[in-house]
Amino acid sequence: MEKFDINKIRNDFPILKREVNGKPLVYLDNGATTQKPKFVIDAITNYYEEMNSNVHRGVHYLSQLSTDAFEVTRRKVQQFINAKEEAEIIITKGTTESINLVASCFGKAFVHEGDEIIISAMEHHSNIVPWQMLCEDRGAVLRVIPMNDKGELDMKAYEELLSDKTKIVAVAYVSNALGTINPVKQIIEMAHARNVPVLVDAAQAIQHIAIDVQELDVDFLAFSGHKMYAPTGVGVLYGKRVLLDAMPPYQGGGDMIKDVTFEKTTYNELPFKFEAGTPNIEAGICFAAAIDYINSLGIENIKAHEDELLAYATQKLKAIAGVRIIGEAEYKSSVISFVVDGVHPYDIGVILDKLGIAVRTGHHCAQPVMDRFNIPGTVRASLALYNTKEDIDNFVAGLTRALNMLL
Ligand SMILES: *Cc1c(COP(=O)(O)O)cnc(C)c1O
Repeated sequence: MEKFDINKIRNDFPILKREVNGKPLVYLDNGATTQKPKFVIDAITNYYEEMNSNVHRGVHYLSQLSTDAFEVTRRKVQQFINAKEEAEIIITKGTTESINLVASCFGKAFVHEGDEIIISAMEHHSNIVPWQMLCEDRGAVLRVIPMNDKGELDMKAYEELLSDKTKIVAVAYVSNALGTINPVKQIIEMAHARNVPVLVDAAQAIQHIAIDVQELDVDFLAFSGHKMYAPTGVGVLYGKRVLLDAMPPYQGGGDMIKDVTFEKTTYNELPFKFEAGTPNIEAGICFAAAIDYINSLGIENIKAHEDELLAYATQKLKAIAGVRIIGEAEYKSSVISFVVDGVHPYDIGVILDKLGIAVRTGHHCAQPVMDRFNIPGTVRASLALYNTKEDIDNFVAGLTRALNMLL
């Protein structure tokens, strides 16, 4: 792993050099958003200094530069997830918009009264609410795959939920609240046995696990740039062409049309049919730099590094009296959620912040997960490629100090 020089990597991220409350920053809130390498920050400056102009519109030089750069991102995303064609990569605002797009457009095309949609008990709100809205609109029914006490999906219950009424299955690849890696390949195979398509929410997987959409045979894949070292405001919806072609457009406006008259409008082809209006051009273009950065390190190397840290942190946390880890699935990635009986997660978060340590506390946009475990929320430490054992040691020392004050 000579490629993975952690000191050099940390140097790539300017913000990691700053102090917070007089202490060196220990950033363990990567599940919420990741920091950006200088390489991406420079790409942003370069965009505004060298090519700022609208995409897919102008004949002029700068517009062609920015259009080409925007389309480079699409190609890099296609290669990164091994999609069959560029047209299957829809550039969105993020995971939330990607899922809403599918719920809305797939819903209009395929979901009717009495149909069923299956999600899981460990979904982020953005993979729950759009489906609830669709169900309400269509008179369809939402079914939920339950999970066990370790935070693993009950695959037998899933098998029983699948039926001729099922129109789509939507599940997280990795739970943002528990860290569970779900058996998505098996989930997809079981759905396909009944000709049911599957959407995978890969917001917490894409930055940690190599994903090959053709190998998975997934029908829709959604993820956000900002959790994979790119700027905020850009994300991806991958969809199989047959499905995207069969779906009506999401929003109406510029770019998504072929011809407009007051009598009738014809729609543009993929991917533009789903990309109405001026996108976040800056983020869209600089997303490519983030993918280059990940590729320069190698997703497998990133995974190995993070898995090692996860095991180290888990073992250290378990040694602290009173700490109870929420989510002890056999297969986990980069997220450790925990509670300490008798202490509110928020109070731990506040003390850690005073020590320069950034974690998230609360329900992590996954309130049903908290209800499942009968807790108001957790403290969540989530890892990225630039974290170190020293970060974990500082975090554990900070937590020990916080508990001494609170207990
Ligand atoms: C962050 C997250 C989302 C939502 O992503 P946005 O970037 O806020 O749109 C959805 N699902 C999971 C699992 C997430 O972690």
